[in-house]
Amino acid sequence: MTHLFLDAHQDLAYNMAAFGRDYTRSVAETRRLEAGSAIPSYNGNTLLGWPEYQKARVAIVFGTLFAGPARLSAHIYPDSQEYTNPAEANRIYWQQLRSYQRLCDTRADKFRLIGSQSELGKHLVEWEDESQPHPVGLVPLMEGADGIADVRELAEWFGQGLRIIGPAWAGNAYCGGTREPGPLTAAGRTLLREMGANGFILDLSHMDPEAAFQSLEIYEGPVIVSHANAKSLVKGAMFNRLLEDDLLRALLERDAVIGVVPLNSFLNWNWKAEGSRQKVSLRMLAEQVDYICQMAGDARHVGIGSDFDGGYGVESVPAEVDSIADLPKLNPFLLEMGYSDEAVRGIDAGNFLRVLESSLPACPARNHDRFSSQSL
Ligand SMILES: [Zn+2]
Repeated sequence: MTHLFLDAHQDLAYNMAAFGRDYTRSVAETRRLEAGSAIPSYNGNTLLGWPEYQKARVAIVFGTLFAGPARLSAHIYPDSQEYTNPAEANRIYWQQLRSYQRLCDTRADKFRLIGSQSELGKHLVEWEDESQPHPVGLVPLMEGADGIADVRELAEWFGQGLRIIGPAWAGNAYCGGTREPGPLTAAGRTLLREMGANGFILDLSHMDPEAAFQSLEIYEGPVIVSHANAKSLVKGAMFNRLLEDDLLRALLERDAVIGVVPLNSFLNWNWKAEGSRQKVSLRMLAEQVDYICQMAGDARHVGIGSDFDGGYGVESVPAEVDSIADLPKLNPFLLEMGYSDEAVRGIDAGNFLRVLESSLPACPARNHDRFSSQSL
């Protein structure tokens, strides 16, 4: 059986729209094209490229839809991907989903959307063949439910390929979020009910703990955390973005899979003050994996959510990592800690694959009127 990776969080559509990044290129090519431009100052030097996905055998990526509220901008993101009202958010999020559809239609040799068990099954069979490259599978994930204008729109989102929704980024109409604590609102409860009815996977990343506990109580469908680390291991971290032990326990009771993040500040809060990225190792990511596995009592509830290119680049990741191609360098640390080959396969891909296999619809959605190059 071939060894694969699944990355549960990459903001590809955002980078395509905001910076014109073309992820069919290599990392070196994108860096060369962006050298001297303002892009690396926004988002660092890229960690992602198609040859690098192939090198690490990253078969599936949860590709996000993400736009930011203008009230928090402060030049974190360029104007084109920020919104000042719900209609703008809705428009940008739809544009990003269309951009994945267009990418997969026009570069079918490089990327493909995965929305059903049958598509997933065929995709994985293809990736068993190690003699040639394969398209990277994309499962669309909405980060921040401001993109949804009305819950009655959820069926259309699902029909167009969206499979995972993380209601929070910052706080919004649905719930408290990062640096903006608060409960699940009445609108948030309605959203979760309708998400469950439509078969969505719930991503609790960025959700304030108060809202996250409430969501775990009422959500009937599958739950993941696409990208977050355990707070206990990140000394000095003073915000609600990382997972406290009590929330981790509640997540594990719900059989959630948690994607750990190889971002230096999520591994060592003071890494900049302490020197450089050379002092942060993937060993610390392995320690995050181990912490959650020890709490779970098994190795079935952790995956990887790199968030690469999600506001940072190569400057802010552990020393061993120059690009996504280096993800497999995590494995020797896990093996050294005593994890079996089977457990490592689960962490690298199998655990999130299990969530997809048990929650995707059996067949592709019927209203499959995906935006195609012919309809341009
Ligand atoms: Zn995020």
